[in-house]
Amino acid sequence: MPTLRLIESRALTGRNKHFAFEAPFAHEAGQYVALSAEVDGAPIQRYYSIASPPRPDQRVEFCIHPAGEFGNLLCALQPGDAIECSEPAGKMRLYDAGRAAVYFAAGTGVAPIRAILLAHLAANPRADATLVLGARTADELAYLREFDALRDRHPRFRLMPTVSRDDPEWNGRRGRVTSHVEEATAGRCDLDGYFCGPPEMVSDLRERLAAAGIPDERQCFERY
Ligand SMILES: Cc1cc2nc3c(=O)[nH]c(=O)nc-3n(C[C@H](O)[C@H](O)[C@H](O)COP(=O)(O)OP(=O)(O)OC[C@H]3O[C@@H](n4cnc5c(N)ncnc54)[C@H](O)[C@@H]3O)c2cc1C
Repeated sequence: MPTLRLIESRALTGRNKHFAFEAPFAHEAGQYVALSAEVDGAPIQRYYSIASPPRPDQRVEFCIHPAGEFGNLLCALQPGDAIECSEPAGKMRLYDAGRAAVYFAAGTGVAPIRAILLAHLAANPRADATLVLGARTADELAYLREFDALRDRHPRFRLMPTVSRDDPEWNGRRGRVTSHVEEATAGRCDLDGYFCGPPEMVSDLRERLAAAGIPDERQCFERY
């Protein structure tokens, strides 16, 4: 089984951590891996989407909510430590860099969305792409500054952050990502839709995007 070697980890938001590992394989934007370890003599395995597009140095990044057993184990890793990993798998991928796209990400669902969006803009810097980025509070919006900075280099990239809980620090959009489909699609049905998050968010988006004229075959999604 391949192993990943930790390069660095850091707090990303009040809730999630960013990890960078050296990987012995190449991957495609949107794929995930299964990480495995032993805890108290028992093997455990969890799936994690790779949050970065392919890079020449084969560095892979993750956005992880250290929710429980496995998250805690990952947080205890030190630079240089190794962890067992499957080969990358999964059906999410960049459909067509030449097409316009709308992206929706909530919580750690941002991971494959970041990978595909960055691959999209790298392949087509003038891509027409909109990202609806959601979290419970403003300080939980993952990679917000990085996405904001993309607008300097990609004039047709539109960022729509939204916060679902009452947050006095936040003056922007409110509500879940699903409540912003109309604004994000702006009456266009020639878009590819990419989204990742909890099952109810994914089901809701599938229906809303279909109603907006974006059929199943142009919807690319993952549920956690
Ligand atoms: C294809 C796929 C890709 C995934 N990619 C990611 C990823 O990129 N980042 C990531 O953090 N997780 C991801 N997950 C979820 C991940 O596999 C684990 O379920 C999660 O890390 C919890 O494992 P744990 O052992 O730390 O906590 P557990 O002890 O298994 O769970 C503790 C609690 O945390 C909740 N929980 C689980 N996942 C999350 C989450 N992501 N955010 C908030 N609460 C959660 C559970 O419902 C449970 O109540 C993915 C799952 C799938 C199926």
